[in-house]
Amino acid sequence: MLGPAAIRSLAQQLDLRPTKQLGQNFLHDANTIRRIVRTAELRADDVVCEIGPGLGSLTLGLLPAARRVVAVEIDPRLADQLPRTVAERTPALADRLTVVTADALRITELPGPAPTALVANLPYNISVPVLLHLLEQFPTIRTALVLVQLEVADRLAAAPGSDAYGVPSVKAAWYAEVRRAGAVGRPVFWPVPNVDSGLVRLTRREAPSGDRRATFAAVDAAFATRRKGLRAALAGWAGSPAAAETRLRAAGIDPTWRGERLSVLDFARLAATEPVPAG
Ligand code: SAM
Repeated sequence: MLGPAAIRSLAQQLDLRPTKQLGQNFLHDANTIRRIVRTAELRADDVVCEIGPGLGSLTLGLLPAARRVVAVEIDPRLADQLPRTVAERTPALADRLTVVTADALRITELPGPAPTALVANLPYNISVPVLLHLLEQFPTIRTALVLVQLEVADRLAAAPGSDAYGVPSVKAAWYAEVRRAGAVGRPVFWPVPNVDSGLVRLTRREAPSGDRRATFAAVDAAFATRRKGLRAALAGWAGSPAAAETRLRAAGIDPTWRGERLSVLDFARLAATEPVPAG
């Protein structure tokens, strides 16, 4: 694994000044890497998709635990270096690694066998869109363990009615059962970030019956104006406050409630109601 000295020397060798824009905070703590790999509960035959392998500390931890690791990195300097780092440090496992230089938000396919797991220390500013994109694009991913900003971890795993519950909670719940898997302190990263981090474990479940896009449109509308009741918040989405009320009642939802009270199944039922013609 890569300790603090190895991380700094690799960065220096690549003339890499980590950028906030790409969320480049690299792990250099062996205990944290071991904890991530253990919490991911990988099977020996798993094909792991890792987003943002960076200098490779987590990749080196994942390779012994999986059949293959497909690492998707947007920064070409890091993507080019990764196979060399792995070949130097664990030559026997080097053929398990495939590196793809790409923007994770745009990938629609990966080389080799379909991924069965996602494990990543995600770039923080795009962690939720990346996670949702991968769960949507790769239905073969049965489990995910991601490291994200602590506040985002709370949001992803929040239950209806709780303060942290919002768009990320409902959308993640479309795909998976989501639970917090502990906090991670700042000193395990270089450079040290100015936010705390947390682990989130997702286990794929059968998606609700209904149309995902239509459901997500209702979710976005319901939370766009958090303080409003659903009748008002969904007026634009349904065409008018009266149309929103009709559809809410058809779905068995009280129009005076706020979006925070609805589960993903409630949203799916709401989106499946008949649109009310204008006029
Ligand atoms: N996995 C490494 C570790 O734990 O030390 C690095 C994690 S760092 C938080 C995030 C990584 O994601 C960086 O290597 C960054 O270059 C990469 N990255 C940022 N945006 C990306 C994107 N859109 N697609 C793929 N990789 C991205």
